[in-house]
Amino acid sequence: MSAVAASAATARSGCAQGPVLTVDLPAVAANTRLFTSRTRAGVMAVVKADGFGHGAVEVARTALANGATWLGVTSIAEGLALRSAGLRAPVLSWLNPVGADFSSALAAGIDLAVPGVAHLEAVVRAAAVSGGPRGRLHLHLDVGMARDGAEPAEWPWLCRAARDAEQRGILQVAGVMGHLSCADNPADPCNEAGRARFAWGLETARAAGLHPAVWHLAATAAALTDPRTHHTLCRIGAGLAGIDPSQTVRLRPALTLTAPIVAVRHVRAGTPVGYGHTWTAQADTNLGLLPAGYADGLPRAASGQAEVLAGGHRCQVAGLISMDQTVIDLGDQQVRPGEIATVFGPGTAGEPTVADWAAWAGTIEHEIVTGIGVRVHRQVTSASAGSAR
Ligand SMILES: *Cc1c(COP(=O)(O)O)cnc(C)c1O
Repeated sequence: MSAVAASAATARSGCAQGPVLTVDLPAVAANTRLFTSRTRAGVMAVVKADGFGHGAVEVARTALANGATWLGVTSIAEGLALRSAGLRAPVLSWLNPVGADFSSALAAGIDLAVPGVAHLEAVVRAAAVSGGPRGRLHLHLDVGMARDGAEPAEWPWLCRAARDAEQRGILQVAGVMGHLSCADNPADPCNEAGRARFAWGLETARAAGLHPAVWHLAATAAALTDPRTHHTLCRIGAGLAGIDPSQTVRLRPALTLTAPIVAVRHVRAGTPVGYGHTWTAQADTNLGLLPAGYADGLPRAASGQAEVLAGGHRCQVAGLISMDQTVIDLGDQQVRPGEIATVFGPGTAGEPTVADWAAWAGTIEHEIVTGIGVRVHRQVTSASAGSAR
């Protein structure tokens, strides 16, 4: 029985034990193909934060089977988990403290981004004792967000130090990277400044005698809106999860969150609901109780606006979302305990979307998809995801 069939059977028999997150891998596959079809550059599937909450290994396998050629993560631990799962594609890890376990990363053939000379020196020390194949570095330039990446003042120095390590046969500079701060708004002038600084950084690296095989600047938004940022590789995270920060392309959302209704009660007009009595029934109504709350990823800040799909209709969340529980207003509907409510999904059956929840909570879709709690049961729809690499 496929995962979808299993889920449908569970829904029918009403025996779901709690909230269930279903990951639609064919949607991830379709999103991947959209990116590969829109660029001549390579596609790096960014699977940090457990693949944006979709499952890092599953998303990685699906993306690689659909044209992605690289994997990207923040921490070394995330990269090692991909290797442990048997994935052999190039992996880049770009955010590690100076004291990180660079030896393990080098031994596992994980490329390392370095944002400055201190990091470079730490990787050189790890490489000198590793004795393995030559470690591969990506020099990371801050192109204008004062976050990760080397400051321009340090960049020429970093390039020379990296060239020196190359000449000593210790490491190889495989790439140069930058990350744009305002790509979700293509009209923002800081994009041009970021592109220009990246071009300068690449020139400076080459002038220092480096020959990076890849240089990469674009993430999802820039990949969709500005081909001048594509260079040799686009790093795509949100887009694989169906999120387009530039709101220019229709991607396929890949997550559905459901929860069984554990109890239904009829209440009189005037009945206050939940902590602080922030909501009061305006008329006689039926209330349903969901065993899912903010610990499971339903943002408390969405209380007051949020809705779910139950009994075929949109139902308001009644009162404050609590840690483990959410009350919904079923109105006149005769919904039986055990029926399944849909918190969010692709929106094709009338259910709210991740984008709706993000708007209700005053946040972005990224925070909703990466915020699903650990006790939510996860399942995947059986995908034609191909075999592992
Ligand atoms: C998260 C991240 C990405 C992916 O960005 P999306 O907008 O989610 O595609 C790319 N590069 C870096 C450095 C990141 O941190």
